[in-house]
Amino acid sequence: MSASETLFQAAQTHIPGGVNSPVRAFKGVGGTPVFFKRGEGAYLFDEDDKRYIDYVGSWGPMILGHCYQPVINAVRESLDNGLGFGAPTAIETEMADKVCELMPSIEMVRMVSSGTEATMSAIRLARGYTGRDKIVKFEGCYHGHSDSLLVKAGSGALTLGEPNSPGVPAALAEHTLTLNYNDLDSVRQAFSEVGEQIACIIVEPVAGNMNCVPPQPGFLEGLREICDEYGTVLIFDEVMTGFRVALGGAQALYNIKPDLTTLGKVIGGGLPVGAFGGKREIMSHIAPLGPVYQAGTLSGNPLAMAAGLAMLNALCEGDIHESLAAKAEYLTQGLEVIAARHNIPFTTTCVGGMFGLFFTDAKEIRGFSDATACDTERFGRFFHAMLDQGIYLAPSAFEAGFISDAHTEADLDATLEAADKAFASL
Ligand code: PMP
Repeated sequence: MSASETLFQAAQTHIPGGVNSPVRAFKGVGGTPVFFKRGEGAYLFDEDDKRYIDYVGSWGPMILGHCYQPVINAVRESLDNGLGFGAPTAIETEMADKVCELMPSIEMVRMVSSGTEATMSAIRLARGYTGRDKIVKFEGCYHGHSDSLLVKAGSGALTLGEPNSPGVPAALAEHTLTLNYNDLDSVRQAFSEVGEQIACIIVEPVAGNMNCVPPQPGFLEGLREICDEYGTVLIFDEVMTGFRVALGGAQALYNIKPDLTTLGKVIGGGLPVGAFGGKREIMSHIAPLGPVYQAGTLSGNPLAMAAGLAMLNALCEGDIHESLAAKAEYLTQGLEVIAARHNIPFTTTCVGGMFGLFFTDAKEIRGFSDATACDTERFGRFFHAMLDQGIYLAPSAFEAGFISDAHTEADLDATLEAADKAFASL
């Protein structure tokens, strides 16, 4: 039995499903989750000391690789001063200044402890600011697990949303409209009927939770126009894309200014951090400046701020985003060529350091129905063939992959060599 198998069995006694977040359980790909004990650069090491080239990067934060020393050192230095005070610290202002400098649409920012908290709070703020209850999100986008967001479309685009999980009140779900990603017509239609009641549109400017689906030209611009027309708050959920697809996030890459932005992952350098921010006029409605309540005992925790700030400073100095994009392009193009050689229907997407792998005949992936039409069983077999060879991909056909600055050309070539064998085995 591998160490992971033993550990997974033990974990299931007192942890639901043996994991603290469901995707880790390998439900989508089958088999036993790998238990890791250490990361270094582009590599992870499991409890049997097997080495893996890692394309998950802790689901995004490890943009500079594992154990990036300036981040580790910043945390070490902060550690000796104490773990948290629940009172203001100078580094919180440094962090806020840095975020506003890197993302100019953000004039004020509030730190929280997860992406879920960031989106939940941004939505409450948008509702409080506009005095409206309805929100729009897109099928296949994920914004964390707060009640208003665990909602799927009803039987027609404009019927009431239905809870996606037991425990979400139907009365709350009916305020969430779920529309099709990259389909401006569905958005226009919804707004023509109930636009004056819609507090916000929340969108992943590059979708990373139905695998990686880039926005079609004009989609984000269209959302901006519609929000302007109806006085609706446009929220870019940049928890995944922020500081990743470009230093200034997707809003810099596509040159569109949202009203509010939510952040996570990279901004915490690997520690639990999220943030939401945006226009001063809107952010001024947050307590204690305004009446919309939001708070957090651990918010702005000094260790987390130290990690996040060291990460953002390193990204500013490193100018790595072009190289991340080039690496993702090299890897995905290489995979497409190899798959074609093995006659496997397969296509890829990539934006900056994010990429997506799709086992499908379709040439283009525009949204959730394209992503879900892919052969997930085949993805599972590919995933395991790669895992056996020491390549750690996201254990789900619906998660984006992440490249880090630590991945070398040799790592990418080793990945392509492994893929050659994996595709052959399918
Ligand atoms: N928004 C997006 C775009 C995400 O990808 C995620 C997590 N993958 C979240 C929000 C939720 O973040 P967290 O898991 O930190 O709550």
